[in-house]
Amino acid sequence: MPYRAWYQCINEQCKEQYSLNTIIYRCRKCDSLLEVQHDVHALARRDAKAWMKLFEDRYKSSEWPHGSGVWGKKEWVLPQIHNDNVVSLYEGGTNLFWAERFGKMIGVDNLWIKLCGNSHSGSFKDLGMTVLVSQVKQMVSEGVPIKAVACASTGDTSAALAVYCAAAGIQSIVLLPKGKISIAQLVQPIANGALVLSLDTDFDGCMRLVQEITKDQTIYLANSMNSLRIEGQKTVGIEIVQQFEWETPDVIIIPGGNLGNVSALGSGLLMMRDLGLISSLPRIVVAQAERANPLYRSYLANFETFEPMQAEMTLANAIQIGNPVSVEKAVRTLKQFNGVVVDATEQELADAAALGDTTGMFNCPHTGVALAGLIKLLKAGKIDRSEHVVVISTAHGLKFTDFKVAYHEEKLDFPCQYANKPIELPPSVDAVKKALDQALEKRRTADV
Ligand SMILES: *Cc1c(COP(=O)(O)O)cnc(C)c1O
Ligand SMILES: [Zn+2]
Repeated sequence: MPYRAWYQCINEQCKEQYSLNTIIYRCRKCDSLLEVQHDVHALARRDAKAWMKLFEDRYKSSEWPHGSGVWGKKEWVLPQIHNDNVVSLYEGGTNLFWAERFGKMIGVDNLWIKLCGNSHSGSFKDLGMTVLVSQVKQMVSEGVPIKAVACASTGDTSAALAVYCAAAGIQSIVLLPKGKISIAQLVQPIANGALVLSLDTDFDGCMRLVQEITKDQTIYLANSMNSLRIEGQKTVGIEIVQQFEWETPDVIIIPGGNLGNVSALGSGLLMMRDLGLISSLPRIVVAQAERANPLYRSYLANFETFEPMQAEMTLANAIQIGNPVSVEKAVRTLKQFNGVVVDATEQELADAAALGDTTGMFNCPHTGVALAGLIKLLKAGKIDRSEHVVVISTAHGLKFTDFKVAYHEEKLDFPCQYANKPIELPPSVDAVKKALDQALEKRRTADV
């Protein structure tokens, strides 16, 4: 295998390297985060056209494991994994659709939604977890004594970890903030056989605990400071460009919490540019919930300072993070991509999600944050009507039915503009006809 990848410290003054078989999450010399680096010279021996052809030939094929959206780009992800050790559920290859009607409503003509939640465990976390669990399987097969893989989670990470570990026959452990995640998110790791620890704290509290527990090297850490996950997640940007026949959109909007995914998005796009598959880069927008917006605050200060904050309860619970692990990587990405950060209040995110739903989407609250951010940037003239815009939808709305039910029953602590309550009626033809006449008339007049 001519291709090679390794861990490298992100600190420019350090750049220490480690083998991918090392159990390590931060640099031993300077404590900075690590990232996976590839032998780009080896990759460049195949020209851009040939890479594009290879990726196209593999896309959604049934050729194991290359039909997976992640493993179809294996040479760019983790080239040294033996196919026998790949733990894949055919992640990636998610649909990208033109949101024509919603775009018209909010004033943008060329708006596309990348549905990363239409995936095995219902969120984009699958893209990274397939890589991490495959690397663990490879290490175990080489005799490294790993007993279990653990993560702290706001819900989606634990669901993805549990499902990939179950597929591989590896024990998973998840630490969840008690009472702060949806029933669907809680039931996923339970069903997939994870050891579920429900703790009376928030995500940041779970994160501190899991870092202590995984100092014992027999329990492997699966949080996004583990840069293996970034390698899988970076395929999302590559896949979007591929789906547009190798044309780069103008703007990509992504909701951000721990900020691993935005750096992953940037990393995939930079790799495409470095290997000649694209010549221009999109602008990247990170959207945060106002109640957990430390990156937005830092952006307002031109990224000269960064202050972790106590995140408050938000409907967008997967991004309720006050002290994001990957902030340095995210800031670096935003500087490279002419980046913008926006935030959204609870009402803005809930209304944006609901308005999108009325046009045929089925949004999770985090996608609501991204859509609300888009609406704000259009109003502020920071995104132009004619631009080619992609919103990354990070999870499936069905994981967040509690949020949707509360909205449509108007049980949130703000007015829910697009609430659509069922009409309760006696089972009589007259009552039903009368109610329909009234309701249809009301909708017709509201529609203009
Ligand atoms: C994890 C997650 C995010 C945030 O991704 P980060 O890498 O933590 O910024 C956003 N939306 C959903 C649905 C998630 O599960
Ligand atoms: Zn270092």
